[in-house]
Amino acid sequence: LTTQALTRIESARELNAVVSVNPNALAQARAVQSRLEAGESLPLAGVPVIVKDNINVTGTETTCGSRILRGYVSPYDATAAARLTRAGAVIVAKANMDEFAMGSSTESSAHGPTLNPWGLDRVPGGSSGGSAVAVAANLVDISLGSDTGGSVRQPAAFTGVYGLKPTYGRVSRSGLVAYASSLDQIGPFARTAEDLALIMNVIAGHDPLDATSLDAPPTFAAGTPDDLRGLRVGVITESLAGNTAGVDSVLSAMLDALRGAGATVSEVSVPELKYAIAAYYLIAMPEASSNLARFDGMVYGQRAAGSDLTEAMTLTREQGFGPEVQRRILIGTYALSSGYYDAYYSKAMKVRRLIADRFTQAFAQFDVLVTPTSPFPAFRRGEKTSDPLAMYAADVDTVAINLAGLPALSVPAGFDTAGGVRLPVGIQFIAPPLQDERLVRIAGGLE
Ligand code: GLN
Repeated sequence: LTTQALTRIESARELNAVVSVNPNALAQARAVQSRLEAGESLPLAGVPVIVKDNINVTGTETTCGSRILRGYVSPYDATAAARLTRAGAVIVAKANMDEFAMGSSTESSAHGPTLNPWGLDRVPGGSSGGSAVAVAANLVDISLGSDTGGSVRQPAAFTGVYGLKPTYGRVSRSGLVAYASSLDQIGPFARTAEDLALIMNVIAGHDPLDATSLDAPPTFAAGTPDDLRGLRVGVITESLAGNTAGVDSVLSAMLDALRGAGATVSEVSVPELKYAIAAYYLIAMPEASSNLARFDGMVYGQRAAGSDLTEAMTLTREQGFGPEVQRRILIGTYALSSGYYDAYYSKAMKVRRLIADRFTQAFAQFDVLVTPTSPFPAFRRGEKTSDPLAMYAADVDTVAINLAGLPALSVPAGFDTAGGVRLPVGIQFIAPPLQDERLVRIAGGLE
């Protein structure tokens, strides 16, 4: 299986989904073989997995899609990676991503853009575009990404696979290079609900190395149509405007399928959603500006030559970080500075609370909430690169979920054919905290 995955990775190089191959993959596969022969029972024995390049895996390069980390080799495993390996999986490669997970198209990587197999002129979504394509193009069956504001769900939607953003704290962040710590979650991509269940049962659960980790042992299983009967589904009113006709018709078909399976469907308004993008970026950028302060050439990756320490650090950051990362560090630092803190960061935190409270209210009436994962299918490469605000707007349906810490799953639900190509459309299911399991059961029920 490992050899097969490595061969597929090699033959799909034009997609640029993978940035480096794990030099220890075959040795690890042999170690799994010996463990099996010794009678160990391994839930993911020999299963090849690809992980996003911001997840540390011992002995592999972790670049986060950035020049600044070129040559940095991880001395340890992220908890999620360690758990995969312990379960018998073989991490075969690292996946391409937007630089430091900032983006919605996987175009800002120092390794160049990842292509969408459904249309080679299209983006795969982002920031976990490489992980999504790894599963969509059948390089592997399961992969890991990270989702701070939609980076697992949106690329899953753009490439026609499942993408789960777990409840905040469900999967350890230890060893995930931090972007915005209060929003970041590692999440899986898969082509079946069963595979989602298999990988979540391995990677989720309490970890003493992550202070925000929750003590909620995973009990995932792919569901049956029974899980849809009597399900109270709320469609978020604000997500019904501004979609392409193709997205609208896939959403209608999904709602019909849910009704047909015995669910009740009605609308629910979350008016605060209109502030979600502004609040998200005013929280994510300050956290990023703080988290990325550690990349100054002294400990990790590249170091530029300078006549003194300050110059070396300044040049390292100037040459190492791409334009989007520099933009966010500047805005984030500004929003945290004294005199502006109350006007921006602290205001955004209040909006965050209002959004979370409104979701709590909605869940008094509904078991799950539904929106399109994105208002449109995969856009063309280059279409939004010169307009950061248009790129940020691509997250309109996903960022609020991270602000509220909720679990959400993008389900591949159909196609938008308007552009003359079949482009996948995803529908997002949102559940109350710790009901990640229910989302996977619903996915199984819909299969
Ligand atoms: N596109 C969003 C951003 O750039 C989400 C990124 C993510 O989830 N990592 O912040």
